[in-house]
Amino acid sequence: MKLGKNDPIYALAKQVAELTAQMEKLGLFTHHRDITECEQCGLFEDVDITGYLFVYRDNDPENIADLRFIEREDGCVVCPLCGQVVLEPEEE
Ligand SMILES: [Zn+2]
Repeated sequence: MKLGKNDPIYALAKQVAELTAQMEKLGLFTHHRDITECEQCGLFEDVDITGYLFVYRDNDPENIADLRFIEREDGCVVCPLCGQVVLEPEEE
């Protein structure tokens, strides 16, 4: 089904996309994928009760890293430290 720009759901989809972009800018996790971890170097991410995404080093929840896992164009998520692919795109 192809949507026209006058379709009410088109405006709603645009609002959702804008809201998602704002959430990402604020550092909130949008749940568009699973949170992940790198088994190779111990980097992992977690979401706190307010929805903020944090990344930790060395499997230590006290050791916050100023890093983000990299979401590639092909849908893979890559560790920013060692380059390991930690999430493959989900099949549809
Ligand atoms: Zn890694």
